[in-house]
Amino acid sequence: MFYKVSKEDEYLFKGKRKRLVEQLRVKGIINADVLKAIETIPRHLFFDQSTARPAMLEHAYSDKALPIGAGQTISHPFTVAFQTEKLELKVGDKVLEIGTGCGYQTAVLSEMGCKVFTIERQKSLYDKTKLFLPFLGYKSIRFFYGDGYKGLPKHAPFDKIIVTAGAPYIPNDLLIQLNVGGILVIPIGEGEQQEMNVLKKKSEQSFEKQVIGKFKFVPMLQNKV
Ligand code: SAH
Repeated sequence: MFYKVSKEDEYLFKGKRKRLVEQLRVKGIINADVLKAIETIPRHLFFDQSTARPAMLEHAYSDKALPIGAGQTISHPFTVAFQTEKLELKVGDKVLEIGTGCGYQTAVLSEMGCKVFTIERQKSLYDKTKLFLPFLGYKSIRFFYGDGYKGLPKHAPFDKIIVTAGAPYIPNDLLIQLNVGGILVIPIGEGEQQEMNVLKKKSEQSFEKQVIGKFKFVPMLQNKV
C-alpha cells in the first residue's frame, strides 16, 4: 500500500526537509551539494509502506533511524550526510554502495551526479528498491543482488566506495576495487557501535586511514547469499 501524498502534504514535507537541513548544518555538515540532495529527496516515501504508520511518517525528517522492512533500518540523516561528505564526491564519480536497503543513500549519491552501483543481500529489499528508485526518477542506478564483501569485480575500479552496514573488518576485495586516489568510507566494529573509517588510496599498496566518530549500524553479514 502506498500513502497518498497530497499537494498540501508535499508542502508540509518540504518545510520539514528544510528544517532537517538546518539541523544537519548545526551538527557540522558543510558540503552544500550533500545538503541540497537531502533537501530534495522525499525521505518520507522510503519507509516500509506495509508497516509504516502516519505517526512514523511524522518522524521521517527527524534525525532518526527507522524500519524499512526485512529487519533493516534506514540510516539516520546525519549518518547519511556524514558518510556522503567524507566521500568528497565529484559529478561523474563511479561509486559502489554496499547495502542498498531502502535506497535513500543510493538516491543521495545519484542526486549528486554520480554513476551508482549498489549491492544488497536481502532479496526482498533488492527487489523492492530496484523498482522504487526508477519510479522516483532515478533511472541510471545499477542494482545488484549479492554479497557486498566481494564488491563488483566485473565493474571495478570505482572512484569511491561506501558501506552502509557495520563491518567486522575492512574487506580486501573492496580495497583492491578502489582506484588510486579513491576513497572508501566504512563503519567498522561488531558490537553496539562502529567507528567510521575513511581510507584514501595513495598507491596500489598504500592507504591513508582516518577514524572519525562513533555510529550505530546493522551488521554487514557474511556468506548468506
Ligand atoms: N543505505 C541503507 C542502509 C540500510 S541498512 C538505507 O539508507 O536504507 C544496511 C543494509 O545493508 C541492509 O539492507 C542489509 O541487508 C545490507 N547488508 C548487510 N550485509 C550485506 C552484505 N554482505 N552485502 C550487501 N548488503 C548487505
